[in-house]
Formats: sequence, structure tokens, C-alpha cells
Amino acid sequence: MKKILHVVGARPNFMKVAPVHSALQQYANVRSLIVHTGQHADYAMSEVFFRQLGMPGPVYFLGIRSGTHTGMTASIMLEFEKVLSKESPDLVVVVGDVTSTLACALTSVRCGIPVAHVEAGLRSRDREMPEEINRLLTDQLSDWLFTTERSANENLIAENIPAHKIHFVGNCMIDSLQNCLPFADAGPLLQGMGLTSGAYALMTMHRPSNVDDREGLGRVIEIVRLVTARLPLVFPVHPRTRDRLMHFGLWNQLAGMARLHCTDPLGYLEFIGMMRSARMLLTDSGGVQEETTYLHIPCLTFRRTTERPITVEKGTNVLIDSLSAQQLEPHFQDILEGRSKCGEIPEGWDGHASERIAAVLNQAVG
Ligand code: UDP
Repeated sequence: MKKILHVVGARPNFMKVAPVHSALQQYANVRSLIVHTGQHADYAMSEVFFRQLGMPGPVYFLGIRSGTHTGMTASIMLEFEKVLSKESPDLVVVVGDVTSTLACALTSVRCGIPVAHVEAGLRSRDREMPEEINRLLTDQLSDWLFTTERSANENLIAENIPAHKIHFVGNCMIDSLQNCLPFADAGPLLQGMGLTSGAYALMTMHRPSNVDDREGLGRVIEIVRLVTARLPLVFPVHPRTRDRLMHFGLWNQLAGMARLHCTDPLGYLEFIGMMRSARMLLTDSGGVQEETTYLHIPCLTFRRTTERPITVEKGTNVLIDSLSAQQLEPHFQDILEGRSKCGEIPEGWDGHASERIAAVLNQAVG
């Protein structure tokens, strides 16, 4: 029997690990265990996803929650090392680009355990993003690199990763989206807010560069003002953003705005239901850029660069390079007047990426 450990830590990890873990169940010789570092640990940012994605609970919960990136990295490494020495897995799978991804990849390599990275090779080329450093270093440490778009293969080759380690498999987050869409229903939420399908915008905002200081948050409020003047806006507020709004005394100003519906972070089924029925998304999320492309929903992304260029080239994504209502205005108007990109679904975003990943992993440990 071979053993594979899957690491989850933060919200965007769950929808990537769930389908890979599930696809591995068909291999009788492989036992898959989930380790949760605890980076996101409350119900709305973690537990709800296990339930809705049908993923078994973690066998280990490391309980590492707060602190600086450095402190969290160090604490995760110390705790994960204990798990590795107890379990001696044949392989560790890490996904995405969060602190847990790099911390666990580095610990595994130090312990002589090979690492597979799901969603490898994405590059924003903005090293001020903590995620970019996590991506670069995790890829250097990994033996199997699974990519979601062809540009990621090119990035890895340019960084001297040997071609035989790179596997273009498509996007396993889209596997989760496909699996869950039949169960997603925005109806009750829309009814509760008095909204109708197609007649509201949906927003997420949580990147440190956008929400960590007062100036950024002021700009977010300007954007909300512009949008709500013409369209109701639903804003599930990330805990980080809520904390910063509270810290700067801006929460009441935001939450009291007309036609704005601030909510807690939504469960996955609720969020993808709301996304599917939205007129447009306004976001700085990584994953939402991909999900909107798959759903053919217009997406305006407040980022200078994106590590997922296919969402701009082929999909429905448009980058707005500064957090500014003025810059948003023409793009917002285009969508309202029906001049948005329809987009195509990228290669390999077909609901079977996890099966392709599982096949390679099974061979790897076999
Ligand atoms: N998401 C969710 N509830 C929300 C907001 C987002 O379930 O209220 C999902 C979304 O569908 C996507 C993932 O969370 O699958 C994206 O996570 P996030 O934006 O936190 O991280 P990023 O992708 O930016 O790393």
C-alpha cells in the first residue's frame, strides 16, 4: 500500500484537493490522507468546503492560524515535520500558492519525501505578491508539476525545470466547479436580498495590496459607490478585508451603503450559484478569474498582472491595473451595455483534470 499526503491550508485549496483526492480512490494500492495546516480554520473559510465538496475530514489538523508569513511558515514546517516522521508518506501533494503550499513542500524535501505541485508554473511576475514567491519556490522543490495552462509549461521550462517533470493536465478546480454546479442554487440568497438573476454584480476583494491600507480600502469604497449607483452589488467580505475595514473605522461607512449587500464569506455552493447568476464579477481573486471564464461571466480583475493569462487571452477576464473607480468605469459600462467578452473554455478545463493527475501520481508511487 502506498501513501500520499494532501496538504490543505486556506480556502482556495479545498476545491483543488477534493477532486484529486477523490480521483485517487480508484487506485486500490494508494491511500490518501488529508493534512490541514489550519491557515483558514473557521466554518465559513474551511469546514463548509469539506461538507459541500464531499471531502473526508483531515487526519491531521496542525492548528497554525495567525502570525506573520515567516512565523506561520516556521510553525507549519515544525508541525508538518512531525506528521511526516510519523506517517512516512511516499509522496506529498501541495496545491496552489498559499503559505502552507511552500512550507509543506520545503519540509517534505528536507525529509527526503518527493513533492507534487498542482497548479504549477503560474507567474504574475510581481514579486511583491507573497503568492508569487510561494509559486516560484514550490516549483523549484517539486518533482511532479501539474499545469493548468500551456503558458505555465513555458514559464517552468524558462526556469530550467526539466520537461519530464511537467505535466499539462488542465484545471482541477474546474472539476470541482462542474461537479458542484448541479447542486448550486442562488435562489434563496437572491430572494433574501430582493435581487433577480442577471441583475446584480458580485465582488470579492482580499489581496493585501488592495485591502491592507486605508488608501486601498478608500478606493474599494469608491468602486462600490460607482457600481451601486447603477447595479445592486453583493459583497461576501473576506475576514482579512473585514478586519482591515474595522481597524480603519470604515466598516460602518461601507456596510451602510444603499444597494450593497455585504455578507459573510459564502459557502462554495452558494458562491458558485451567485457567480453563475451574476451580471459580472469584480475581484482580485486568483480562482474567481478562472471560474468566471468557465462560466462565461464577465470578470473585472483589480490587478496589474495576472498569473492566469489564459483567462484574459481566451476567457472573460479584463485586468484593471489600478484600484480606481475611474479606470473601472468604461469597462463596467461596456458590460452593462452588452459589450463584454464571451470567451472560450481553455484546453483541459473539461472536468477530468484530476483523473489525469491521479493517473500520474499512481504511476509515481507505483
Ligand atoms: N469562494 C467561496 N466563497 C466566497 C468567495 C470565494 O467559496 O465567498 C471560492 C471561489 O469560488 C473560489 C475560491 O473560493 O473557488 C477562491 O478563493 P480565494 O479568492 O479566497 O483565493 P485565491 O483564488 O485568490 O487564491
